[in-house]
Amino acid sequence: MSGIDALPPLRDVIATHGLSARKSLGQNFLLDLNLTAKIARQAGDVTACDVLEIGPGPGGLTRGLLSEGARRVLAIEKDPRCLSALAEIADAYPGRLTVIEGDALEIDPLAHLTPPIRVAANLPYNVGTELLVRWLTPPTWPPFWESLTLMFQREVAERIVAPPGSKTYGRLAILAQWRADARIVMHLPPSAFTPPPKVSSAVVHLTALPEPRFPADAAVLNQVVAAGFNQRRKMLRASLKGIAPNIEDLLVAAGLKPTDRAEQIPLEGFCALARQVAAARAA
Ligand code: SAM
Repeated sequence: MSGIDALPPLRDVIATHGLSARKSLGQNFLLDLNLTAKIARQAGDVTACDVLEIGPGPGGLTRGLLSEGARRVLAIEKDPRCLSALAEIADAYPGRLTVIEGDALEIDPLAHLTPPIRVAANLPYNVGTELLVRWLTPPTWPPFWESLTLMFQREVAERIVAPPGSKTYGRLAILAQWRADARIVMHLPPSAFTPPPKVSSAVVHLTALPEPRFPADAAVLNQVVAAGFNQRRKMLRASLKGIAPNIEDLLVAAGLKPTDRAEQIPLEGFCALARQVAAARAA
């Protein structure tokens, strides 16, 4: 018994199924089920939702989500060694856990999910960032998900929620904050994981807005922001030179100073500039 369910403690699960952590798969496991239940609660009320979980591993967060009452969990795991442990969880929660073996970067889970859908994951950070960018840039908005509850290295979490003017403010902050509310909801020390990673972690909760915070064309906004932050120390009139021939005029028309740097510009300013650039290109 483990406290949140009738299944064995995660240490025993790992020993029984031979799940020694593999660095190549970014395996730092959470073994405290009270902690995984707490992370699951950050995903909000999941009782009427399908939850997409990426990288369940031995199933700590999976058990947290199921014990918190998730209607269904669809879990995608790359490591086949974890499947037998996950099958035991599926047996304990009949009809509520489906596991797909494979690489989350290559699998389209949508056919297996029924809205409303929330996403929860504790992933290796490179896979997590790549998936986050994909989830934030779908062809149409609103996206398939209502919320994302994701564990990141603390430094990446801070980049997602960064305000203008801060050192960590950049493309990821703008991408996340343009069409979602993004908050850090938990901090975790390395000792929360087995084996402990070198850095601290944080859980970020993102809620999809029904529509973007300010109007802008996604592709143009992305171009402007990429150019601005690729040379973040330069003034906008220099870093954005390649965006439009009359960029200084467009900056002024957007209410921005050509001598400002990207890191000083709030989201609203980038959106205003993207609208000016789009209008100039259409003229
Ligand atoms: N969720 C578990 C927990 O919190 O203890 C495991 C977290 S561990 C940091 C990351 C998990 O993601 C591992 O189980 C690993 O095998 C899996 N993983 C790594 N890359 C993946 C990928 N591309 N697709 C799906 N799972 C992946």
